Amino acid sequence: MATLGIPQNTIEILRKYDFCFQKKFGQNFLIDPHVLERIVEEAGIGAEDFVLEIGPGIGTMTQYLCESAREVLAVEIDRKLIPVLGETLADYQNVTVLNEDILKLDLGEIAEKYNAGRPVKVVANLPYYITTPIIMELFESHVPLESITVMVQAEVADRMKAKPGTKEYGALSLATAFYAEAEVVGNVPPNCFMPRPKVSSAVVRLNCHKESPVEVHDERLMFRLIRASFNQRRKTLANGISNDTGLPFGREEVVAALEQMELSPMIRGERLSLEEFAKLSNLLTGEGGRKEPIA
Ligand code: SAM
Repeated sequence: MATLGIPQNTIEILRKYDFCFQKKFGQNFLIDPHVLERIVEEAGIGAEDFVLEIGPGIGTMTQYLCESAREVLAVEIDRKLIPVLGETLADYQNVTVLNEDILKLDLGEIAEKYNAGRPVKVVANLPYYITTPIIMELFESHVPLESITVMVQAEVADRMKAKPGTKEYGALSLATAFYAEAEVVGNVPPNCFMPRPKVSSAVVRLNCHKESPVEVHDERLMFRLIRASFNQRRKTLANGISNDTGLPFGREEVVAALEQMELSPMIRGERLSLEEFAKLSNLLTGEGGRKEPIA
């Protein structure tokens, strides 16, 4: 099978299968061999690696991954692409294609079944309509992940890397910092895709932490606090948390914890670092007498 990274080959296969791009699935296929090579290189894929690819499309990047990795598992939601992938990946014995929605799969089970629970590398040109849910699902699944190398909207890449006090800083920045170290490894213009997306793109590599960078007694509570403070971005942190009906903390309790941290009672969530959210969460739960989030 010819390399799909060459646009002419992509056009041919799309014509052969009379394929219509589905906007609802975020289908923008890569057609630039340099970008494809760069992604696989930046992901550091070697002969020992097991790779999970999310959304293989017609198999363009999958071909590159199969050339470098020990094994590739490609999860594609669009059933119309399954026969196409049967043809474009026919030369490779080290690939399995699953016709599934990545958000509905038990990723722990997948890692266990296909890679005996050993660390997985994720590589994808992500469908932009569900970038954040996919990233959060990968993080929160607690699947052993080595790295996640993904094409995302440039604006999402900025949010992942954002620092406290900037307008891009939010729950995604904090989740990324908690689970990984993020590095933008390249910017990709719209003309590298078919059809061209309306936004600019960037490739981000998330090197997943082996150990948590902060000590937090209750991870779930910390993320509930983070969400409460960014849901009401214009409010003070103390008001955001105490107004959240799913959280059992009154304003005074939050203000007292902030005072112990030598922070102003009027501070907004967007000013707090990951370390400070972890400390706030630990102070609010106390040593023994814990209060669980309600919802
Ligand atoms: N990897 C291909 C490439 O680079 O040319 C295609 C990338 S395209 C941006 C995103 C792909 O993800 C599409 O093939 C789309 O059908 C698939 N997709 C969208 N939502 C999905 C989901 N929930 N689960 C699995 N695949 C999905």
